[in-house]
Amino acid sequence: MSEKLIYLDYNATTPCDPRVVEAMLPWFTDNPGNAASRSHPAGWKAEEAVKIARESVSGLIDATPEEIVFTSGATEAVNLALKGVFEAYISKGRHIIAPATEHKAVLDTCRHLEKMGAEVTYLPVQSDGLLDLELLKSAIRPDTILVAIMWANNETGVIQDMEAIGKICAEKETLLFSDATQAAGKIEINPRQAGVYLMAFSAHKMYGPKGVGALYVSRRDPRVKIIAQIDGGGHERGMRSGTLNVPGIAGFGKAAQIAKMEMQQDAARLLALRNLLEENILENVESVFVNGNREKRLAHVSNLAFKFVESESLMMSFNRNLAVASGSACTSASLEPSHVLLAMGLSDHLAHASIRFSLGKYTTEAEIRFVIKTVKAGVEHLRSLSPVWEMYKEGVDVEAML
Ligand SMILES: *Cc1c(COP(=O)(O)O)cnc(C)c1O
Repeated sequence: MSEKLIYLDYNATTPCDPRVVEAMLPWFTDNPGNAASRSHPAGWKAEEAVKIARESVSGLIDATPEEIVFTSGATEAVNLALKGVFEAYISKGRHIIAPATEHKAVLDTCRHLEKMGAEVTYLPVQSDGLLDLELLKSAIRPDTILVAIMWANNETGVIQDMEAIGKICAEKETLLFSDATQAAGKIEINPRQAGVYLMAFSAHKMYGPKGVGALYVSRRDPRVKIIAQIDGGGHERGMRSGTLNVPGIAGFGKAAQIAKMEMQQDAARLLALRNLLEENILENVESVFVNGNREKRLAHVSNLAFKFVESESLMMSFNRNLAVASGSACTSASLEPSHVLLAMGLSDHLAHASIRFSLGKYTTEAEIRFVIKTVKAGVEHLRSLSPVWEMYKEGVDVEAML
């Protein structure tokens, strides 16, 4: 691999901002304290670092520090929210609602809860990835204990109308949880204002370190109850035991602080770059479609379907110079078509022909120009070898044959 890798997979994970690494370093070496050690200065210093980070993390989402429970990441935060609510509200009901386009962290946890006696309604979405709010309203029952709806989708970037969803859940007196892992630090989000009572997010999706995240647990009325899923010592107000990851939490705090200051200008720059990429590809390559609502979408994400092109083959043609995602990054070990794209009504074929480009704050215009050329050349090459493409161009109804 001679050329430098162009990284357009920021939705899978982001590199750490160097300022984040700098904020973390002292907590590995100079200050070894356990934030729960109350009897000496090393412990107090670590506790103070966690306190400052908690203020930064809560400040990013306009919450109070007491509403933040640090976890090992968004997956754990999702597990804590869903399992914790199920266990706490079992006497009220066993019904949970989640869209079919949720992240596997939510869907697999729902599957687990089904085995424990939960009844889960997986809501279909519209072809643009947005929820039909009337459908949501009609799905909520008296025994619905939780509605789980992601703020922004990791594959398409589609942003749900959380305020409208929050109003519906408030009217129906049902708890609302949101997986905001892709939204936090990218767009302004305010769970209290949106009527969200529980919210998961993660440091490594916002230029912080891997292995640390948080669950926001609202302290306003009606007070949310969750049962801890990890016991032992009563850390994090009894909601998540275990020695705190002080360097990780310090890094998360720094990442949140930077995001709060810089996300608006980053998003404006990335919107221009994303549009440059998307518009050039749409103009210069035939039969390409944008997956997901084009307006209600994160500025840095573009998910494109290239008709009659296997995305895996297209990625191979990039010769390891370009990091993008086909299907869902999280399940790309298996070659299952993306469940998100299928839920939006794409055929297996189009889902397999889709690529997610997710840009980030280190993406440059020169890189995007190179990517446009590379994608165009790759698609044209693969189609030139494809008998299906040839038949399609001759007017044969190949779709009926796929
Ligand atoms: C990455 C991601 C997760 C998992 O986060 P981890 O911190 O890696 O556990 C959950 N939900 C969404 C939407 C994500 O993008």
